[in-house]
Amino acid sequence: MSMYWDEAMERAEAGGLREYQLHLLRATLARAKNSPFYRRLALDQIESLAAFQAEVPFTRKQDLREHFPYGFLATDRKQVVRLHSSSGTTGNPTVIFHTKNDIEEWTNLVARCMYMIGTRPGDVFQNTMGYGLFTGGLGFHYGAEAIGALTIPIGPGNSKRQIWFMQNFGTSVVHILPSYALRLYTHFEELKIDPKSLNLRIFIIGSEPHSEAMRRQIEELFGVKAYNSYGLSEVCGPGVGFECLEQDGIHLWEDHFLVEIIDPETGEVLPPGEEGELVLTTLKREAVPLLRYRTGDLTRILPGKCPCGRTHVRIDRIKGRADDMLIINGVNLFPIQIEKTLLGIPGVGKNYLIEIRKENYMDKLYIKAEVDQAIFEGTLAGLTQLQNRIADELRAELSVNPVVQLCEPGSLPVWEGKAKRVNDLRNSE
Ligand code: ADP
Ligand code: ZN
Repeated sequence: MSMYWDEAMERAEAGGLREYQLHLLRATLARAKNSPFYRRLALDQIESLAAFQAEVPFTRKQDLREHFPYGFLATDRKQVVRLHSSSGTTGNPTVIFHTKNDIEEWTNLVARCMYMIGTRPGDVFQNTMGYGLFTGGLGFHYGAEAIGALTIPIGPGNSKRQIWFMQNFGTSVVHILPSYALRLYTHFEELKIDPKSLNLRIFIIGSEPHSEAMRRQIEELFGVKAYNSYGLSEVCGPGVGFECLEQDGIHLWEDHFLVEIIDPETGEVLPPGEEGELVLTTLKREAVPLLRYRTGDLTRILPGKCPCGRTHVRIDRIKGRADDMLIINGVNLFPIQIEKTLLGIPGVGKNYLIEIRKENYMDKLYIKAEVDQAIFEGTLAGLTQLQNRIADELRAELSVNPVVQLCEPGSLPVWEGKAKRVNDLRNSE
């Protein structure tokens, strides 16, 4: 059986792929001009990708919000068969429409991703992501069915029931938020069930920033391979990018998206390898084509060819959104750096929270970290030692002096959807 869902496209040689992109881009520009938002732009036919970059301005999330609800619709309203909306992590949700063809293309893309990491007919796929407006539910659902996997649309929450389904139906592939995966493990512990004794094989983790340390921990606890899944509802949802079996960068599908990395401050297009904001242009979307859409997500293009044989560009794991960056007394840092450090320390538990307060006109960083049950029940000396080690390692990583508070397992707040790790109290106290 082939390793590829669509071998010719996944392995298309670079020159051919560029030509195909230009062809799709021209069609996209022509379509986009049917929307009230892009109609105003004087977009004439472009000669090259460089000309496109020179002539077309960025589209921002703010534009989508300001032209709610139909300002970006490029087809007749009657051709729209579905709408989805972002989870609204950073403000009002944005609403995106899909034609029948958009849904088909999206389905095919998710199937390509799931197939790439080894999902096959006969697999049992349990989708623990939210169904409804959130794209992680239905997006994966259709992709898994297209492959021919038995698909369990269980949705989020109710951990005992999740485990019951895994046990009784021999679930082999699970789509799960990384923060929830760690929490789910504690329910396995409670029930005294070893997840490794089940049929679990592949975890698809994504939708929120997470560190390599988090992935490794999930893999070890569940005895699975975990793959990073990237997407955003504005350009379809999941399926935009996915790790292959190499687990070394996220392939972005260039037959569907034109990829740029820009300096978030100046808007300048950055050369491959430099870190900046990911900008995507949709190449096949009908209902809501987006031109040079600023995702807000920070990453960089990885150099070299992927040993998997796919030619589509790879990006580094998402570091966070540009507005996730914390400035503590003038020092810049990302929550993911804190996670990476915490999860690398034995004894640290399954949940943590970052709090920032203003004390004597200075910013103070508080790290609340749950500890493992064994440490919690151990000696005070053991706890103090752990606390000191966390503080030392964080100081070395961040160049900021944090206050570390250890917490009982299961005591920190949990989330139904994406994790909210940062509690910035500087302006509210
Ligand atoms: P919202 O913006 O409201 O969270 P979406 O559900 O569309 O709405 O989420 C898309 C965003 O989620 C992305 O722009 C990115 O910030 C984040 N995201 C998605 N997948 C990943 C991933 N694998 N790693 C890090 N962040 C991710
Ligand atoms: Zn690869």
